[in-house]
Parts: sequence; C-alpha cells; structure tokens
Amino acid sequence: MAVRALARVNLAAIERNVARLARDAQGAAVCAVVKADGYGHGMVGAARAALRGGATWLAVATALEARDLRAAGFGDDVPILILGALSDEELPIALDAGADLAVWTIEMVQALVASGRPVRVHVKLDSGLGRLGTRDPEQADAVAEAVAAAEHLQLAGAWTHFATADERGDAFMGEQLARFKAWAEPLRARHPGLLLHAANSAATLRDPATHFDLVRAGVAIYGLDPFGEDPAARELEPALELVSYVAAVKACAAEQSAGYGRRFVAGRDTLLATAPIGYGDGYRRGLSNHAEALLHGRRIPLVGTVSMDNVTFDVGAAGLGPRLGDDIVLIGAQGGERVTAEDLARWLGTINYEVTCGISARVPRVHHRDGEAVEE
Ligand SMILES: *Cc1c(COP(=O)(O)O)cnc(C)c1O
Repeated sequence: MAVRALARVNLAAIERNVARLARDAQGAAVCAVVKADGYGHGMVGAARAALRGGATWLAVATALEARDLRAAGFGDDVPILILGALSDEELPIALDAGADLAVWTIEMVQALVASGRPVRVHVKLDSGLGRLGTRDPEQADAVAEAVAAAEHLQLAGAWTHFATADERGDAFMGEQLARFKAWAEPLRARHPGLLLHAANSAATLRDPATHFDLVRAGVAIYGLDPFGEDPAARELEPALELVSYVAAVKACAAEQSAGYGRRFVAGRDTLLATAPIGYGDGYRRGLSNHAEALLHGRRIPLVGTVSMDNVTFDVGAAGLGPRLGDDIVLIGAQGGERVTAEDLARWLGTINYEVTCGISARVPRVHHRDGEAVEE
C-alpha cells in the first residue's frame, strides 16, 4: 500500500445509488447534492458519477463549491443550485458560476436586480426547519412575484426543507408538507413550469408525496442510509472505503499498556497492530477503546486512545496472523464482514453524514469504478 491511509470511492456505486433513487422518485428529476466535497467522497468525481447515474441537477451549499464545479467542466447544461445563504462577497461568485440561487427576502431580490445579471431563482419557504427561508407564505409570494416581474430574473423554483424526514413515525414532516403545498401549488398554478421541490434523501425514500418535480438527494447517493440503519436494507451501496495498513506489530504482555493516557492495559498476553491513521485524518478520538476494524476479513477491536496519526488494534486472536503491510479496513467490507459509516456513527454518538464529511484532506481520495481506475 502506497500511502498510510486512503479513502477508496467507487463511483459506480454512486451511479447505481442514483439510478436506484431515480426509480423511487418516479419521474421527478434527481438533484445530486455534492456539497462538502461530496460528503467527503470527492465532489467532482461524485458529481460526474451522479450525472451518469441519471441525476440532471447538482446542488451545493456555497458559491465556491459552485465555482469549483464549473471550473471542473460542468457546463451550463447542468443546473447547479446553491442551497445556502450568500454573503455580499459570495454573491458575485455565485452569479459568475451561473448558479440557481435560493432567495426569500425582497432585499435579496433587489440585490439580484441591481446586479443586472440573469439569474434563476428558487424561492424558499421555511415550513418548519427554522433555518433559512421565510416562515411567512405571504412574504414568499411577494418575493416570487417580484422575481417574476424583474427583467433579468427567472422564477425557477419554489422549495422547502424538512426537519424530521429521517425520523420514522413522525408527524411533523406531514405538517411541513401541508404548509408547503398550500403555498407552492397555487403559486405554480399562477406560474406554470415552476419547479417544486422539498425532499431530501430520507423523504425521497419515505414518502412519494414529497417528490414533486425534483428530489434533492445527498446522503443516499453515497450509499449511506439516511435513517442511520444498514444501507443494504434499502438497496444502497456504500461507495466509500477507508483503509489503512499494519505498520507495526508487537507483542503486548498482560499489564502492558498502549496509547496516550494508558487507557488500554492488556488483560492477557496479546499482539497489537498499529495503523497509521488517527484523528488528524478524521478517524475520531471518540472511537478510543470503542470501535472495530477488519483484518483478513475478521473484526479486530480498537484498543487505547486514538491519537492524531496512529491507532492500535488488538490482533492477538487465534489464527489472525497479522503481517506488516496487511490492509486494515476502517470502513468497508472484507471477507464476509463489514464495518459501515453507520457503525462508526453509532460508536461516536453521531450520524453517518458526519463520519464521511469528517475524513480530513490528509486522506487521499482514490476514485475507481468497480475496481477499475478512472481518469480524472
Ligand atoms: C444537504 C441538503 C440536502 C440533502 O440532504 P440528504 O439528507 O443528504 O439527502 C437537501 N436539501 C438541503 C436544503 C440540504 O441542505
């Protein structure tokens, strides 16, 4: 293995996940959300794979992400929606990128009018997430009409975002949906061709009534389960593997310790393997004494404190036979065993999104298609 730790990303898995979501979306367009470096998978490769899989839109959170996509060669035939707010400094970058923008105040419309630039606008109703958008449907209407009346602006979309789509059995998504429909459907009746969109991955999988004209799917296109469960149960295929290797093997006698703070003390004679990956790579310290990885297709327990650059595993189990250079799989499958981002999230008390987004820039992303190298 050439490097100490790497993230192998199977772009073919992203393609298949998008195709699977597109089937579920039943005619609604798929907008692939590739913000935050494609949830840690590599933004440009993820975006290309998503388009091959049938997505026709891309979404990002920031103006710089939209600029980077255009610079990577995604042309004007691919609409890029910026989901987030834009500062005065970011607005010209977003306009140069020809991105579709989220708008919810008259002041934002005025700033766009003042720019004199052609812009496609998506008016955002806050139907209950309490974050961006206006809670007031009358304000949302006024903004939409101002956009429609402005010479260079195009009223392209009306949208909202759910707070609880990933919580099964919850009633709040239905309330948000009702508020959104009560506003957006009459607006579309007045402006035929307006795109309505509301669903994230969880809503896409959970309720066809949320699909409208377009679904904004992020986490699921990477094969991560939006409900934090086993992705395989929903036919999602994890695209990312996180792999390191056995850099050192040593005997550890009973009573000897490993790692900072001596938080692991061997209860019996065993063997330890050191993998050169740590919280500096986004393999979080919260996993100390509380995670498993795979070696030779078998589960090995993490022992001791995760440090910045190294972590230790107990590899003393009978017959394991660790050798220098052997792969250690931190996320992924080996033999019949799997460690998922959902497992790491559970061990950490967080969500799978944060696990893959948190893999740091120090870890090279290596893209492939079912094992074949891809040109980038
Ligand atoms: C990130 C984001 C999405 C995608 O959500 P997933 O749960 O990853 O599918 C959709 N819409 C908005 C507004 C977002 O910020």
